[in-house]
Amino acid sequence: MTIFTGTTNGRVSFWHADMGGPPQPRAPLSGDVTVDVAIVGGGYTGLWTALYLNRLDPALRIAVIEKRFCGYGASGRNGGWLSGGFEWSRDKYIAAGGTREGVIAMQAAMAGSVDEVIARAAEEDIDADILRCDKLMVATCAAQLERRDADLAELAAWDFPASRLTTLDGAGLASRLRVAGGVGGLAVSGSARVQPAKLVRGLARAVERRGVALYEGTTVTGLAPGMVTTDRGTVRAGAVIRATEGFTPSLPGLRREWLPLNSAIIATAPLSPAQWREIGWEGHEIVADYAHAYFYAQRTREGRIAFGGRGIPYRFGSALDRDGQTQAGTIRILHATLMRLFPSLAGIGIDHAWCGTLGVPRDWCTSVGFDPATRMGWAGGYVGLGVSTSNVAGRTLADLVLGRQSDLVTLPWVNHKVRPWEPEPLRWGAVNALYGLYRLSDRIEAKGGGTSILARIGDRIAGH
Ligand SMILES: Cc1cc2nc3c(=O)[nH]c(=O)nc-3n(C[C@H](O)[C@H](O)[C@H](O)COP(=O)(O)OP(=O)(O)OC[C@H]3O[C@@H](n4cnc5c(N)ncnc54)[C@H](O)[C@@H]3O)c2cc1C
Repeated sequence: MTIFTGTTNGRVSFWHADMGGPPQPRAPLSGDVTVDVAIVGGGYTGLWTALYLNRLDPALRIAVIEKRFCGYGASGRNGGWLSGGFEWSRDKYIAAGGTREGVIAMQAAMAGSVDEVIARAAEEDIDADILRCDKLMVATCAAQLERRDADLAELAAWDFPASRLTTLDGAGLASRLRVAGGVGGLAVSGSARVQPAKLVRGLARAVERRGVALYEGTTVTGLAPGMVTTDRGTVRAGAVIRATEGFTPSLPGLRREWLPLNSAIIATAPLSPAQWREIGWEGHEIVADYAHAYFYAQRTREGRIAFGGRGIPYRFGSALDRDGQTQAGTIRILHATLMRLFPSLAGIGIDHAWCGTLGVPRDWCTSVGFDPATRMGWAGGYVGLGVSTSNVAGRTLADLVLGRQSDLVTLPWVNHKVRPWEPEPLRWGAVNALYGLYRLSDRIEAKGGGTSILARIGDRIAGH
């Protein structure tokens, strides 16, 4: 397809290219060191944890150990939705021993992370193209409207502030964003759009300025109480934090812990003023739809559309992509969806395509944890909501490591345990069958009627 001529595929992400390309890695570890806290992984989780630990106790010796460079993972590749959302099953946290008040407090903590990230970015002098905006959820058929209404009912049942919600009919949606076939939607206030790589690389500079040691180009080969082994030496530590989210299965003994689910994005060429007039989108909302195989998008600082979705969901044996290179089939799926929703963009160039992995626990519920006996901790399994959630995780881990009895350490996701994923080939078969069912359901629902029975079967397989 000629439309893809000139599309850069991979080299980590468009967001790094937007900054002049991926950075030169900092110096690796050279020999053995001893620190108070060793953090594995230089993404948002690891860096927020380092930042909050340093803020609470500037004398702590903290090391972040990163295989490639800070922002190489999902933190430098994502859709830039700083949503403060809560998309995990509230009922599962209750079933695991949480309380209704606890879940509502967790929901509020997630929402509060938007202000917190914006405040810390300003304080640390991080320019990440942050723009406060609404989250705009789009429905293009009756079944998607049903899910919008179910969404509204769920939010009301869990005391979500009604003042933050605006229900939109077809005309209301079109007054914000003209999506072909749009029949309604929901706008949720209190989110923001970010340039993800600017945020994570800015965070790395901020913690470095504060005296945190960043060892890049250093691969962790083993984690144990008080010790992190790497290909460059050993780090002895009073506490060890695992912050490797979608990469976690590549660590020894953790192959079945979190499933690395693929997500991919295409970035269009900048739209002309006439094209923007056609579409609207003057509120610069972060946008997604209610499809089962949903898309997510942002209007970038310089007027492109970064348009993401699932594409090919999972590689056999939890294999990872190479520097963000995605499959041609995935680019075609995303491009076709973009054209279906915005036909006036026919012929627009696709400048960049890339992918990354996000961590999915077996129950699709995120967690953060710390064992005071072994002094080992972790956070992740955010299921695609890591931009805001990782900030709450970083604050929570800092409190747990330092033994602080804060409101954060009693939230129901703290030390939430989940069973491992099935071994291969069951895992690969189930995830690909699930997304096959979701895509088929979307096609059936687009023709009319309510939520497809196939999607319900898919949810059963997934354990949603
Ligand atoms: C395409 C895509 C779009 C997304 N869109 C959004 C979005 O719009 N909003 C949202 O909230 N979330 C989104 N997410 C999810 C979000 O980006 C992640 O949940 C979040 O960035 C995870 O941060 P992290 O620091 O935990 O992990 P990562 O950023 O993945 O960092 C983990 C780090 O660990 C390093 N590492 C791995 N193995 C080793 C090892 N052996 N030794 C040393 N270091 C190692 C990696 O190199 C990596 O830098 C998206 C994810 C993807 C992939």
